[in-house]
Amino acid sequence: MSSDRAKLLSSALKRLTKRPTTIMEVCGTHTVSIFRQGLRSLFPEDLKLISGPGCPVCVTPQGEIDGAVELATRKNVVMATYGDMMRVPGSNGTLGELRGSGSDVRVVLSAMETLRMAEEMPHKEIVFLAVGFETTAPATAALMIEARKRKLENLSVLCLHKRVPPALEVLSKADGNRVDGFLLPGHVAVILGHEPFKFIPEKHGIACTVAGFEADEIMLALVDLLEQIGENRPSLTSRYEKAVRPEGNVKAVDLMDRVFDTSTSAWRGIGPIDASGMSIKEEYSLWDGSRKFDVAVRNVPEPKGCRCGEILSGTITPKECPLFGTGCTPVNPIGPCMVSSEGTCSAWYRYGRKGDLKWES
Ligand code: SF4
Repeated sequence: MSSDRAKLLSSALKRLTKRPTTIMEVCGTHTVSIFRQGLRSLFPEDLKLISGPGCPVCVTPQGEIDGAVELATRKNVVMATYGDMMRVPGSNGTLGELRGSGSDVRVVLSAMETLRMAEEMPHKEIVFLAVGFETTAPATAALMIEARKRKLENLSVLCLHKRVPPALEVLSKADGNRVDGFLLPGHVAVILGHEPFKFIPEKHGIACTVAGFEADEIMLALVDLLEQIGENRPSLTSRYEKAVRPEGNVKAVDLMDRVFDTSTSAWRGIGPIDASGMSIKEEYSLWDGSRKFDVAVRNVPEPKGCRCGEILSGTITPKECPLFGTGCTPVNPIGPCMVSSEGTCSAWYRYGRKGDLKWES
């Protein structure tokens, strides 16, 4: 974004912010993008951005992490997952630490890599630890469809996928909700399209805009939101037309529908949310790691002193956590929000400590 354009958009934000206004950037990639591109210095004092539950690693409850860590210790199991999961602390250590002590835990860049692993190691049980929202779930679904087709019964999925719109429903109607507008997650909207988010303005009267990840796209989306708020006409607009079709990606949704049912799922810091989970359909039960290995998921409290739960519901900012930057750093993370590359605490630590964060509470 040129400096002239930055000045223009910044003055538009200043002109449109007529009262203290809180926008939630739902997606962790937006949180990082806003920091990395220095956009906060362009915001007026009264415009406050808070992060939401849009980091998939962060919203996975401690009990589910513990279940995965326990499964990875079992004899003959090879666990494969995305890199961010390796450093998330469970009650008894991380997957990365397990690997250091001899368990077979591997990082994959794509779910499909586990197909080759299952074929090359027929005497091992390959478990893909699947986390993420509607953005990564279609790849997991495609993996399961292919595993079934190839009759690869030594491959299974521990499915921790979650659906974003039901979480936004909970936040929208929460007592004391202080969100004036949602910067909607561009990647999720690429898959789902617009329809699943329309209930937010229509039912809850909260402004919404789908945003891309470039500086221009984010700033324009904020202008859209402030116009909706100022004119008291909450609606759903999009500033990510280059990637999001209103109907979404029909093929990806079809993949998810073939493999997953909708179920209740627990979110760290928010609790159980109806219809926010993706459970594996009966016809794919042979590839369901949770059933195959009878993985126990217990209710486990947050690490002592960690306030990730409040970060994820937008109730506090990282600096309000007493451990931020002292007991909890990216090198020695206490909670998942400091671990994940999309985590709010990690973004604040990497980009926000020096800056003039005028919008801090
Ligand atoms: S700073 Fe660390 S301990 Fe505090 S909320 Fe963030 S991740 Fe949790």
